[in-house]
Amino acid sequence: MGENFLYFLGTGGSRHVMAEQLRSTGGTYFQINDVRGIIDPGPGALAQMVKARPLLKPEDLSAVILSHGHIDHCNDVNLIIDSMTRGGLKNRGTLFAPGEILNGKNQILFNYLKPFLLGIEKLETQKKYYLNGLSFSTSGLHQHGMETYGFSFHSEEGKLSFITDTAYFPELFDFYQNSRWIVVNLVLERNCGNAQHLDINGVKELLIRLKPEVAVITHFGKTILRKGPKKIASRLEKETGIKKVFAPEDGDRIKLN
Ligand SMILES: [Zn+2]
Repeated sequence: MGENFLYFLGTGGSRHVMAEQLRSTGGTYFQINDVRGIIDPGPGALAQMVKARPLLKPEDLSAVILSHGHIDHCNDVNLIIDSMTRGGLKNRGTLFAPGEILNGKNQILFNYLKPFLLGIEKLETQKKYYLNGLSFSTSGLHQHGMETYGFSFHSEEGKLSFITDTAYFPELFDFYQNSRWIVVNLVLERNCGNAQHLDINGVKELLIRLKPEVAVITHFGKTILRKGPKKIASRLEKETGIKKVFAPEDGDRIKLN
């Protein structure tokens, strides 16, 4: 079996960072139990994949997972599906996405691409999904102004959770307990208004309670970039007691073992 790893196609998030491409916004590529997929292919996902060395080939993907329909999370989904299936020459892959963006007025997937896929699965709250050797479960609904889920992957080595966009609320402790690894979207330095995003204090609180072995912060907004993600990561290590908090750059790869 190949190694399990994450590759950061983009560590940027939020409207400003996306518009100025201060960091790429392509989301996170994973290889777990020999299944390759992308979580939240925002703008730049495909461009970063073909730039990666060793190359991350679109036609090796079999899972595309969307946490929600904001453009910095799903812009490249059509592009990825077209590339993954070689324009429909080879049916391949499953798209997992919240119902509100699979159908209806907020549908984000081009209709002509639907038959290219092997499967389209509607994400629902706290449900388990299977794909070849991979299984993951959704969290309960996040607080993010639209239908948004986080994810926990289950492998022999332990539970790997992605805490995607959300406001801070106590049920997050239940959704993500017993995670060995946590990847968390840290958008804001300080949540002054009612932006439905985590800030440094919220992430710190979560990490203290959840105590993963390793944490990764990503999806940085402008205030985080200004402050310096690596500085924030080492401060979080000190203040949470977690041995390793990574703040990856675009194109960084983190092994899961
Ligand atoms: Zn969002």
